[in-house]
Amino acid sequence: MRTVKLDLGPDSYDIVIGRGLLAQVERMTALLPQKRAAIVTNTTVAALYLAPLQKALEAAGVQIIPIVLPDGEQYKTWETLNLIFDGLLTARAERKTTLIALGGGVVGDMTGFAAAVYQRGVPFIQIPTTLLAQVDSSVGGKTAINHPLGKNMIGSFYQPQLVLADLASLDTLPDREYSAGLAEVIKYGLIDDLPFLEWLEANIERLMGRDTDALAYAVERSCQNKARIVGEDEKEHGVRALLNLGHTFGHAIETGLGYGAWLHGEAVAAGMVLAARASYELGQITDADLARIIKLLDAAGLPTMAPALGYERYAALMAQDKKVDAGQIKFIIMRKLGESYMGTLSPEVIAAALQAGCSD
Ligand code: NAD
Ligand code: MG
Repeated sequence: MRTVKLDLGPDSYDIVIGRGLLAQVERMTALLPQKRAAIVTNTTVAALYLAPLQKALEAAGVQIIPIVLPDGEQYKTWETLNLIFDGLLTARAERKTTLIALGGGVVGDMTGFAAAVYQRGVPFIQIPTTLLAQVDSSVGGKTAINHPLGKNMIGSFYQPQLVLADLASLDTLPDREYSAGLAEVIKYGLIDDLPFLEWLEANIERLMGRDTDALAYAVERSCQNKARIVGEDEKEHGVRALLNLGHTFGHAIETGLGYGAWLHGEAVAAGMVLAARASYELGQITDADLARIIKLLDAAGLPTMAPALGYERYAALMAQDKKVDAGQIKFIIMRKLGESYMGTLSPEVIAAALQAGCSD
């Protein structure tokens, strides 16, 4: 068992990583202000993990309100959020009733937002069950739902009291979802952790085999990286933006192809290659560095060529990104391998990166 602390003064919390944590409910019960909690999950995850978690908590004397949502990013909406409130109000959940998110990033983001606003804020625990949620979305307190006019446009910052990343839950994760999570893991190495990047290069086969020890280390190191960055900049005024490496290109890919065609992590992988190609065009990384990045992402089962949408379409899609500041598109660029910064890219550099990095 490994513990990473997210240091946010009075809002600090532990991220606990290990196998079999779902059954060890004392960590949760110790934090509950009343012996009542709602478990929010979706149909897929409920079938796998709701009963054991609910039984273990009930055996510890906790009364459980189960709330099972439909599965999918298309349900990350006001309407589904309201189903959570329906469940809470029908069961007369109170201000001291804790919301437990059991699922991937969609369930985590929606439950976190519900916890932030139900009766102006109730306690919240994250139990992430996808690799992406364990290394990224459950850590850092961003919560949101989608609006028909934009992804994650309605939300708040709201920190959980505890994150429990049970590695055993990843046993049932489909390969494609697992690889998508690895994209965010590799991202931490590229942002500012060259030793981790080198460890990933040496251990990618073990990770692809879902080796427990390798996975525990990768999740821990990823959470340490995210916790450090969020601890420095909780509300994204500066350094937290580095977590968007590959995401400006990636979001353009996701929107350009239509949501759901590529998984987020897949788009981020191809987006990170485009960011690397732009950095190469600027003379900041070598072609050997570029080849290493591509090789690692490829070994992680991720796409390394972006779809050919054309320069104009990419430029238009990227201009709509949330990270646009006074008309300037901010990119995360590699200063060298394992070190990134936020800056702008000229149309020539973007065009050259797309020229080299899009398949036809
Ligand atoms: P997801 O929540 O849709 O989960 C992917 C799929 O895996 C779903 O079908 C889910 O039901 C299924 N699943 C979950 N756990 C499983 C398990 N253990 N075994 C088998 N199947 C399982 O997707 P995701 O990739 O976890 O999260 C993506 C969401 O996270 C997006 O909405 C994104 O906006 C959000 N996100 C938020 C942050 C943040 O900081 N809050 C960061 C990154 C991403
Ligand atoms: Mg991401």
